[in-house]
Amino acid sequence: MKIRMPATVRMVLDSLHAKGYEAYIVGGCVRDSILGKRPNDWDITTNASPAQVKSIFVKTVDTGIEHGTVTVLVGGDAHEVTTYRVDGAYLDGRHPESVTFTASLAEDLKRRDFTINAMAYNDQDGLVDLHGGMEDIQQKMIRAVGDPMERFQEDSLRILRAVRFAAQNNFGIDRDTLAAAIQLAPTLSRISAERICAELTKIITSEHPEYLKVAYQAGMTRIFLPEFDACMETPQNNPHHAYTVGEHTLIAMRASAQDRVLRYALLLHDLGKPAVRTTDEQGVDHFYGHAQVSEQMAGTVMKRLKMDNDTIHSVKMLIRCHDWLLRPDERQIRKMLRVVGQELFPLLIKVQMADSMAKAPDQVQEDLARIIAATRVYEEILAKEQCFTLKDLAINGADLIAMGVPKGPMIGKLLNAALDRVIEDPGQNDREKLLRSAAEDMKDMNADTAHQGASLDKLPD
Ligand code: ATP
Ligand code: MG
Repeated sequence: MKIRMPATVRMVLDSLHAKGYEAYIVGGCVRDSILGKRPNDWDITTNASPAQVKSIFVKTVDTGIEHGTVTVLVGGDAHEVTTYRVDGAYLDGRHPESVTFTASLAEDLKRRDFTINAMAYNDQDGLVDLHGGMEDIQQKMIRAVGDPMERFQEDSLRILRAVRFAAQNNFGIDRDTLAAAIQLAPTLSRISAERICAELTKIITSEHPEYLKVAYQAGMTRIFLPEFDACMETPQNNPHHAYTVGEHTLIAMRASAQDRVLRYALLLHDLGKPAVRTTDEQGVDHFYGHAQVSEQMAGTVMKRLKMDNDTIHSVKMLIRCHDWLLRPDERQIRKMLRVVGQELFPLLIKVQMADSMAKAPDQVQEDLARIIAATRVYEEILAKEQCFTLKDLAINGADLIAMGVPKGPMIGKLLNAALDRVIEDPGQNDREKLLRSAAEDMKDMNADTAHQGASLDKLPD
């Protein structure tokens, strides 16, 4: 078999071979090439030491030199070249105590997590597959290299990575590997939030985010996302719903595009439902106020997972608005745009579509038709360049100051009042009209303040 690789990768291999070293592409890129997928990165493994690698290439960066990794820069591309290594004892279930370089490719392949990730390749030797990775690809199977209990005890993150590779490839997990994962799932608690989050993100942004259910069934989410377990265990006896909260969440993610913010919003959008569920006399469940509780819980979860503030802000906003009723009503959509912002609004539409598609089947057609009609109106608002933010108003703070408004909170109040008017009626976004009504508003506000002052005077000491 032959794997086609980018010219720069071939150049790195050729340069190492020319100096008499062994060199192969290895891991994810070999797996993805066999699967017909585009590899994310092309990792290279060699028996040359990091110092030897650095002496061969003009431009290198010491990205992980203590682990034997040197990044080689060629023609604008960066490729990681790692010296064959064996990991020392894992005493903490996370990191090897030491790494030692070895002269043997076989030793290096043995330390890798799954058979499908433990293959190497170069044009001269073809595929080096010492653990049956090719066969497992054909069987669509995730299988640990060697004894799964040992491998998961060395590094607990591998337990979650098993689900990640299953989700990315629509593979099953080998029986012994799964049994070990279930038994050792509690040890995921030793893994840092950042490493957990990186794998969780890859699961939920994969083609099969519903594999998160495997992580739930195996007792993994209980460790790092117990809020999701509560969703899996919360029924929704309600005519709008056909699934438990958790199943609904999985279906909604599957029904949406593979966007990180979108998928996180869907993963977390109903997190508050277990806490707010009430059942009426007819036995129908209600989830009043769940969006607000979900938003707050989502914030807690994302902070715990050490996610960045931009993502947290966007996801929370989408969750806050996920059940606002989108209707083909210009005025109402301008109001929503004012709160959500133009950047996130297209994602809000996608959240609502996916959410609808995961509800009771007889509702779906109607809901989608409504959301699509609303989307058209949203597009018209943009095409007509209607104003829904302060920055698009025909007046600004400087205009108000020039009119004699004192600097301070009054400016913001007047601009927001102007925006209220313009959102009600886009025809009002005219400089003269807005200045005139601002002058009126100012008089009213001054009168109000005077009035408040008067009532304060009347308060007893
Ligand atoms: P991706 O497409 O996400 O980059 P990948 O297979 O390249 O997938 P990486 O996390 O980049 O995954 O790791 C590269 C390779 O290093 C893996 O294919 C595997 O051989 C090895 N590896 C990575 N992490 C571990 C781990 N925790 N334990 C054992 N081997 C690992
Ligand atoms: Mg990789």
